[in-house]
Amino acid sequence: MPSTVTPAGSSTIATNLPARLVAELQAVLGPRGWSMEQDVLAKHNREARNKFTGMAELVLYPANTGEVAQCARLCHEAGIALVPQGGNTGRCGGAVADPGQILINLARMDKILETDARDFTMTVQAGAILHHIQQAAEDHDLLFPLSLGAQGSCQIGGNIATNAGGLNVIRYGNTRDLVLGLEVVLADGTVWNGLSKLRKDNTGYDLRDMFIGAEGTLGIITACTLKLFPRPRHLATAWVALPGIEAALDLLALARRETGDAIAAFELMSQFAQDLCISHIQNCITPLETRAPWYAMIEITSSRPRDDLASVLEGVLERALEGGFILDGTIAQSEKQRANLWAIREGIPEAQTLEGGSIKHDVSVPVSAVPALIEQGIKQAQKRIPGIRPCPFGHVGDGNIHFNFSQPENMPKAEFLAHWEDLNRDIHDIVAGLGGSISAEHGIGRLKVDELVHYADPAKIKLLAAIKQALDPQNTLNPGKVINHK
Ligand SMILES: Cc1cc2nc3c(=O)[nH]c(=O)nc-3n(C[C@H](O)[C@H](O)[C@H](O)COP(=O)(O)OP(=O)(O)OC[C@H]3O[C@@H](n4cnc5c(N)ncnc54)[C@H](O)[C@@H]3O)c2cc1C
Repeated sequence: MPSTVTPAGSSTIATNLPARLVAELQAVLGPRGWSMEQDVLAKHNREARNKFTGMAELVLYPANTGEVAQCARLCHEAGIALVPQGGNTGRCGGAVADPGQILINLARMDKILETDARDFTMTVQAGAILHHIQQAAEDHDLLFPLSLGAQGSCQIGGNIATNAGGLNVIRYGNTRDLVLGLEVVLADGTVWNGLSKLRKDNTGYDLRDMFIGAEGTLGIITACTLKLFPRPRHLATAWVALPGIEAALDLLALARRETGDAIAAFELMSQFAQDLCISHIQNCITPLETRAPWYAMIEITSSRPRDDLASVLEGVLERALEGGFILDGTIAQSEKQRANLWAIREGIPEAQTLEGGSIKHDVSVPVSAVPALIEQGIKQAQKRIPGIRPCPFGHVGDGNIHFNFSQPENMPKAEFLAHWEDLNRDIHDIVAGLGGSISAEHGIGRLKVDELVHYADPAKIKLLAAIKQALDPQNTLNPGKVINHK
């Protein structure tokens, strides 16, 4: 029922939300705990890729778990959907609210609760920004290894809800591998306290793993206990020119063996991706004169007090040169040079945007199938859209390629983007044929709900629906994301 609400100290706001529910939520949260201001809502309703438009008329900012639980209970009783939102950096429209739904953002719940240097753990509220967690670990000479381009604004609750991957998965695993315990508010306001520092706990179904990667459809994560690691004291970073993609896999295998599995990042990019960055991103400098179809960046780290990693990496490059796996290579001699290498790798998405339209795929296949994926994918894309410019890059050590394509130089952007769904289907078919996944690290959100149904084993869809039904029978937690539940 449409209604009007008059918040203290502001003008009357028209809303489609039930007035009684709005008043109850406002009373629970106090004046700092909610907003109906248009400019505030605009920020929360904006979706990073402009593929969806959020329509929330109310955003809640609870200050503690008790408040989250009360908000969930009130919305559940009123039959109104709650959409959890973190830093709103997700790539699949998972944090977008429809008309009549309410956003709940945990930005005020950002405290580091405890760092335990003997257990190598940190317990934090779910609204803590990833970068602040990394810094807090560093203050104790420890490492929280999750690292991604959005780390300055994404929240750990969002990282857990999307099981984020990022740059260090090859060494430390996905977010799932970095979480020991969780506290979660369920759809009806029940609080599950699963905060734990245990590394071994075989007491029934793993509830923690069920909430990780659930994208806010099963519960609102309010706190977590994370794994920490010794902080690396030494690192060495190389940029290499490769004769082909197969060579990247030979180099990866060689480097894993020769460094004692010290690889923290192994990133691949095409010549086109590298060149795009150098022409569009300020201050990026070509690392190597040698022209090659592919380039890779390798970073190795060690937490041992004494370690000459530059020599170790030099040895790897020498053997790779002898084996014909690389054409040329360089090792960063200063932090400035290393920063340049990372700026090229991390600048690719922005450079692609500056270049024009791009069609994207976040896919994974077994590492050994990466060359087949890229070869088959490029061939098919060129057949569908002559002149298309493939721009694959990403975490080849995890079999996760951001298989992006830039528009042909002479094609209007809109005409190119009209091929999005057809090209997605082409690439996803190839991925499925190679035993891969249509979402490597970004999740399903709203974007890939139909794709999931299309490609997943029907038994999996049935199980997902059964879990959703058991935990959220009224479908009031982030409806329409991951799975269409009636
Ligand atoms: C520049 C850039 C680089 C990126 N690089 C990577 C990368 O390398 N690897 C990668 O995996 N991702 C990457 N991402 C995607 C994004 O940063 C991650 O998905 C991140 O984990 C989302 O966190 P967030 O706090 O922004 O969540 P949001 O975008 O706000 O939400 C994402 C999903 O999580 C749910 N959610 C949020 N908070 C909670 C909570 N407390 N409880 C329950 N559910 C919740 C939302 O409902 C939504 O479904 C990148 C994004 C950008 C913009």
